[in-house]
Amino acid sequence: MRLVKLLANLGYGSRKEMQVAIRNGWLTDREGSRLKADAKTAHEDILFDDEPLDPAHGVVILMNKPLGYTCSIKDQGRLVYDLLPDRFRMRKPVLSTIGRLDKETSGALLFTDDGTFLHRVISPKSEVPKIYEVTLDRPMKGDEGALFASGDMMLESEDKPLKPAELQVLDETHARLTLHEGRYHQVRRMFAATGNHVTDLTRSHIGGLGLEGLEEGKWKVLSEEEKTRIF
Ligand code: URA
Repeated sequence: MRLVKLLANLGYGSRKEMQVAIRNGWLTDREGSRLKADAKTAHEDILFDDEPLDPAHGVVILMNKPLGYTCSIKDQGRLVYDLLPDRFRMRKPVLSTIGRLDKETSGALLFTDDGTFLHRVISPKSEVPKIYEVTLDRPMKGDEGALFASGDMMLESEDKPLKPAELQVLDETHARLTLHEGRYHQVRRMFAATGNHVTDLTRSHIGGLGLEGLEEGKWKVLSEEEKTRIF
């Protein structure tokens, strides 16, 4: 029954449906031999309907999130999960986003089914830098960089100052901001506190991991090497 449980946990269907799939011969190894429910075949050598199985537990996915999608499993409207195969919503343990991006923010978004990995990325102790490309409604005044870097900037209704953040001014209405924490609407609220308004926001990097080669709306499973680039 090992295979039935594995497939059901990967979200391919119910245990009953997976028993039927095995009986119908949809599970094979790479040589095309049909697998039985108690097969000991290595995960990477199992094919479902001639396609390699989704990765086992511990998967980390990088998505280039488009504008207009919400980081939620059950909100109304378009959800980031809609951009993944349906079965990814049924995986056990569940696939969660690692942190969130606002509906109107695009860019790098991670998902995982590995709670330990998730906490490692979002833990304040890890201080994983996140880089944002920002477009502003009005020209910057010139003192934003010093304020953001100060380590004592307070946001409204919070009781702890923000960690120092680095601002690189690209031109008077464009900047690159590196944060080492993730508070609610942080980039928008930081610029709002300077009397400005963010009109466009994209996260380009999480740690050393960027979106090279990943078009908007596309996703990929990270290799072990890519995972290490985050830290
Ligand atoms: N800061 C924001 O304001 N929004 C995001 O989505 C991420 C960071």
